Amino acid sequence: MRCELVTVPGGPERPNEDWASAAAPASGQGGVVVVLDGVTPPVGDDGCVHSVPWFTARLGGALVELSGSRRDMDLAEILSESIRRTADAHRPTCDLSHARTPQATVALARWGEHAVEYLVLSDAVLLLEGVDGAVRAVLDDRLDRLPPGSLASAATVDGRLRNKEGGFFTAAADPAVAARAVTGSIPVTEVRSLAALTDGASRWTEVFHEGDWAALLELVRKAGPQGLIDRVRELERADAAAGRVRLRRGKTHDDATAVFVEL
Ligand SMILES: [Zn+2]
Repeated sequence: MRCELVTVPGGPERPNEDWASAAAPASGQGGVVVVLDGVTPPVGDDGCVHSVPWFTARLGGALVELSGSRRDMDLAEILSESIRRTADAHRPTCDLSHARTPQATVALARWGEHAVEYLVLSDAVLLLEGVDGAVRAVLDDRLDRLPPGSLASAATVDGRLRNKEGGFFTAAADPAVAARAVTGSIPVTEVRSLAALTDGASRWTEVFHEGDWAALLELVRKAGPQGLIDRVRELERADAAAGRVRLRRGKTHDDATAVFVEL
């Protein structure tokens, strides 16, 4: 197995709210990849005395530990328990019922002797490349199904749609949200490589339409995660200079994370 992980903050003025980790071997064989994108709260009260990086470090740490040590739990159960643990860590000091309580999008993959298991919640992206070269994108498309006019990003979408029926779901303080994640598994013998991305990196396809998911994975294979993110930054600068044709009201540079694993 070979793994390459790159994360780049959107800018120097605020901390990187993406969080990523890879573990190998997990339970003696296979491995785990976790990628989180902390949802940036607007200025103002979020009911929490901590920070988004505080939250993602605890949630991500729990996901890595449980994915590696608890083969008896499936990934949805692991996400649920990780949310519970993280919530318990700040329940005494913070209002976890606040709509803006710290939260994150999730891409999680675990592989072992038999299968590659995967889980995606909100706008993180997981790509699975088959041994035949075909690329399958695991996407939670709830954001795409929001009413027209909603900004299609977990970071910017209207608070009224956040973690509500008919809206979209992120990992916040409610363990039950794990049931909303897109999950599945495929035989490990059918997978050549995988990539996990936050939306700051997947915008190469989703915002700039430079190529489809297969083309993105090909770029990552050839140029590495750093090559993908460098290209995204070039596209962002060019679009900003051209009047924000693609970026519109979105952030020029978002935190961007890409993890590429060859099994
Ligand atoms: Zn807190």
